[in-house]
Amino acid sequence: MAHGQTPIIIWFRRDLRLSDHPALTAAAESGRPVIPVFVCDDLVGRLGSAPKWRLELGLGALAEGLARLDSRLILRSGDALAQLQNIVAETGATSVYWSRSYDLASIERDTEIKAALTEQGVTAKSFAGHLLFEPWTVATKAGQPFRVYTPMWRAVQGRDVPAPAAKVTRLQSPDTWPATEDLNAWQMGRAMNRGAAVVRPFVQPGEQAARDHLDEFLDRVSKYSSQRDRLDQDGTSNLSEYLSLGELGPRTVWHRVHQAALMGVSGTEAFLRQLVWREFAYHLMYHTPHLLSDNWKPEWDSFPWNTDPEHPDVIAWTQARTGIPVVDAGLRQMYVTGRMHNRARMIVASYLTKHLMTHWKIGMQWFEECLIDWDPACNAMGWQWVAGSGPDAAPFFRIFNPQTQAEKFDPDGAYLRRWIAEGHRKSSATARSYFKAVPRSWNLHEDADYPAPVVALAEGRSRALGAYESRKTH
Ligand code: FAD
Repeated sequence: MAHGQTPIIIWFRRDLRLSDHPALTAAAESGRPVIPVFVCDDLVGRLGSAPKWRLELGLGALAEGLARLDSRLILRSGDALAQLQNIVAETGATSVYWSRSYDLASIERDTEIKAALTEQGVTAKSFAGHLLFEPWTVATKAGQPFRVYTPMWRAVQGRDVPAPAAKVTRLQSPDTWPATEDLNAWQMGRAMNRGAAVVRPFVQPGEQAARDHLDEFLDRVSKYSSQRDRLDQDGTSNLSEYLSLGELGPRTVWHRVHQAALMGVSGTEAFLRQLVWREFAYHLMYHTPHLLSDNWKPEWDSFPWNTDPEHPDVIAWTQARTGIPVVDAGLRQMYVTGRMHNRARMIVASYLTKHLMTHWKIGMQWFEECLIDWDPACNAMGWQWVAGSGPDAAPFFRIFNPQTQAEKFDPDGAYLRRWIAEGHRKSSATARSYFKAVPRSWNLHEDADYPAPVVALAEGRSRALGAYESRKTH
């Protein structure tokens, strides 16, 4: 093989797209053969049931996209370094490219892999792509990481974001393809059990579907600001699962929204602010990795959270049977669609951490199990923000009242009717789907009575405030 024509391995991870992909573009433009690879390593193995199932759908779509370019997605399972080294040995590849990840576990793995490959003379190169602003490129005037959102927003809002690279339309194939494993044999959806069939109609995986969602959203972005909090409206972009798996790059979103603004579309700033919350979450996760595992503010370590996931109150919450309709509706939306409205996420998280005084980690881990748009940084930040232990968090004493939240953001009760079947003679199909989505072992049936509140709102609120007050005085 002529030197300079040796293959480049593109190691796909959470960047399942062919456009706006700097690593893939660099490989394609080199003119060298490109071997796209995905490794099911222990980090992938540890994913929760719903995100792992959704990843399988994304990998299927990516493989189809590559096949349309006469390329292939090579699948391997096991240790990522060992698998990459195997493919290097089998194909004579001399370079491995990937898009950077920013959580500590991935950084540690990637650092080790880069060192080992470099040591054996293989060029290992990582690229940006998952974020608008890499965490070390944004700092306060004093050169420190941001700990508060609004100053970070002000610092980045006028910055240049590199234009997204065009879709790769041609990839040189290697002389011989290395062997691949079979995606179906990985059974990534196994833990979803019967839930997969319920959620599946709500999911359109892949890069093209992501772009279609973006197009459709740009037609209604001007209403985003007024509708985004409404539980009963489809007022948000629904892009989170695509951003999470990298089926859509944030640079593409940023530029398309800016173009819309230039064409006179109003209301785009409100949306970009939310997109920058995602950047803030990654900024925090990178600079303070304990965001994912411990109270971001250590003074919360002494708070008397319930830490027992088997506590009956927690079981009622996970089963979406708390007896507080809007809380149960949010959780049921998650079981049926794999996603939950942002306002509902805040309401269910507040009820768990405050009214039920349960540690945010229990809720965070449950979302990690159930959300198809699960994202390590956004999920951890969201939970710590609601619980009060996180950066720029809402003060603990500002306890959401689920009932007034429902009255304000679901004034006609449409969201509740969509997700709660009990007590309605003609319940909606979506509400009934919840009984088909949840594990059989929960033994829940459509004709069950709706439960009384597991903890009444006034009682839960005063208990939480009491705990907070006594903690303050210690
Ligand atoms: P839009 O309102 O259209 O926003 C566009 C994009 O901006 C989103 O796709 C997302 O990437 C980003 N974004 C919006 N709001 C936030 C936010 N509050 N924090 C960080 N990024 C944001 N988001 C996830 O992507 N994955 C999670 O696992 C996740 N867990 C959460 C847990 C809790 C307890 C809370 C309160 C929030 C969580 N979020 C999470 C943030 C937010 O709820 C979702 O991003 C949003 O609901 C996705 O819907 P959308 O794409 O229509 O959002």
